[in-house]
Amino acid sequence: MEEKLNAITLKAVDYGESDKILTLFSLEKGVISATVKGVKKDKAKLKFVAEPFCFAELITAEKVGRRSITNASCHKSYFNLCQNLNSYFCACVIAEFVTLFFKDAEEGLFADFVLSLENMLKGISFSTLVKFILKGLAYAGYGLDFSGCSKCAELIENRVFLDVDSSCFLCENYALENALEFKISTYTRLFEINNTPFDKLDLEQENTKNCLRLLDNYISHRLGFKLKSLQFVL
Ligand SMILES: [Zn+2]
Repeated sequence: MEEKLNAITLKAVDYGESDKILTLFSLEKGVISATVKGVKKDKAKLKFVAEPFCFAELITAEKVGRRSITNASCHKSYFNLCQNLNSYFCACVIAEFVTLFFKDAEEGLFADFVLSLENMLKGISFSTLVKFILKGLAYAGYGLDFSGCSKCAELIENRVFLDVDSSCFLCENYALENALEFKISTYTRLFEINNTPFDKLDLEQENTKNCLRLLDNYISHRLGFKLKSLQFVL
């Protein structure tokens, strides 16, 4: 059966003499894998689709449960991300995150992925990554609650704690024993990124990296694993 899919290449692994197996995030089906034949040959017509972060329209065919790409046309190549290490590594974190969480289609997050790649091409990498992880966590059912202190409902202004189990922030008056304390400047920055659309994000780095450290901590406590590629960014 032939199918038309819009997808971004996340990963390409060699398969046999000249084929590759791609992991792709598709608008229609979420994360899928598909073989692309003969792509390691010099003049392969579909070479571009095996490049990291290629956004293409694919024609795929399925045979005995295996999907292969029979044709593709490139919407946009984000290959130039490789020229900026920060952007490239941040995009790799997004790819890993998506692969872990989104086996099913998630149209909103797909659109966010494209916006993120656009930002990263411009070098706006850290704040974009924070924003994407916040949105991705929300889509996956682990979103952080930014409505102030979850116990007293007041704005948090002095010391701030994260109650990992409930994904809520707490002020100093209600901090639970095992809640994670972190800097108020990190909380302010996280709050700001959460409320800023992708196309208005900025280049601020130091506080933004602290946000990533906090998210790394939250993900490992709440979900029990580390995003490996995030460790290269921190
Ligand atoms: Zn409170």
